[in-house]
Amino acid sequence: MKRDTAVFDLINQEEKRQREGIELIASENFASKQVMEAAGSVLTNKYAEGLPGKRYYGGCEVVDEIETLAIERAKELFGATWANVQPHSGAQANAAVFLACLKAGDPILGFDLSHGGHLTHGSPVNFSGKLYDPHFYGVEEETGVIDYDKVEAKALEVKPKLLISGASAYSRDWDYERLRDIADQVGAILLADVSHPSGLIARGLLKDPLDHCHIVTTTTHKTLRGPRGGLILMREDFENPFGIKTMKGELRKMSSLLDGGVFPGTQGGPLEHIIAAKAVAFGEALSDEYMTYILQVKKNAQVLAEEFVKLDYNLISGGTDNHLMLIDLRNKDITGKVAEETLGKVDITINKNMVPFDTRSPFVTSGMRIGTAAITTRGLKEEDMLKIVSFIDSALRSHDNEAKLQEIKSEVNEWMVGFPLY
Ligand code: PLP
Repeated sequence: MKRDTAVFDLINQEEKRQREGIELIASENFASKQVMEAAGSVLTNKYAEGLPGKRYYGGCEVVDEIETLAIERAKELFGATWANVQPHSGAQANAAVFLACLKAGDPILGFDLSHGGHLTHGSPVNFSGKLYDPHFYGVEEETGVIDYDKVEAKALEVKPKLLISGASAYSRDWDYERLRDIADQVGAILLADVSHPSGLIARGLLKDPLDHCHIVTTTTHKTLRGPRGGLILMREDFENPFGIKTMKGELRKMSSLLDGGVFPGTQGGPLEHIIAAKAVAFGEALSDEYMTYILQVKKNAQVLAEEFVKLDYNLISGGTDNHLMLIDLRNKDITGKVAEETLGKVDITINKNMVPFDTRSPFVTSGMRIGTAAITTRGLKEEDMLKIVSFIDSALRSHDNEAKLQEIKSEVNEWMVGFPLY
């Protein structure tokens, strides 16, 4: 077959973009060479509907071993007793949980998207908001943090069947113990979607959701630094509260409902090449090198946040406990959209983001979200955070000065040569 230069030339352009720029999108990272090697392997050719040892296809002996390895490593990494490594993405992991735990129309309670939550936690444009009855809690305008008394009051009012914690843009740790108490009061299942901070959680740098939550979901490609994908975990299996029985008339365990929620509930054949890449990434995340890395992610975020505050940037909640921060740009007289475009011109990638109680639309926004997972993989340390804040501040102050932006871009590109990508 002739080499498809149309596609590969574009891939080379993307590689150059990633190499030359400063990647600050909080949900991104750079997977290792061996993670990408597994993801690009012959395993992409294999169908394997079902689970290891219980497949609907022949020839699954090898992929059974690979998937089992991924499951065992995921369990070891998070201190879980059960894992499903098949979800194609974080959204798919959540879809499987919803299907296993809810009936259409059931009330759910999640963190408001406009305060930093995720689409799959009840947004009206997502399956979670269309098929179920969504309700939300948020942060306090004054403090930028969640008031758990208000979550409790809301839960008592709406009696959700599923209480969801987790966010895409919340820089503080979660009180899972309090949430479990709230869930128990109303008979809800408690789900923690730790897609963003799962790498920090795995290595003990944040509270452990599995101590209190019935079910935990995560993506595998953010702080966890694996291939794009999803994962579902439980520390303790439990009998399903809906009375669903097996063919033999026994109550089905939650693990069985969750497995069924993934396949055949919401997915077809698992992506065994991605599952192999997840196994590699989980192995890496168990290593000493990853521990050093994830500690650095947190240190870098602390220093970055402090530097922004020194330059009078308004961080929602005043700082960060994890790898990300949400910055309210209203006192800087610039929208999130202009900030994203301006920083794009100097090869610094961030994303515009709504801030709590934002009056602008999601296409404009008043804020930006920044994370340190990817730049830490490039090898940047605390002292480098000062330089990043200075680049960002100069660029935003010169957003209408193309010559100055060009100058900053050259400096950024030159500087990043010192931090090889692969
Ligand atoms: N849940 C949370 C909290 C997320 O931040 C994300 C992704 O940004 C997802 C779920 C969805 O993950 P994916 O993009 O892999 O579907």
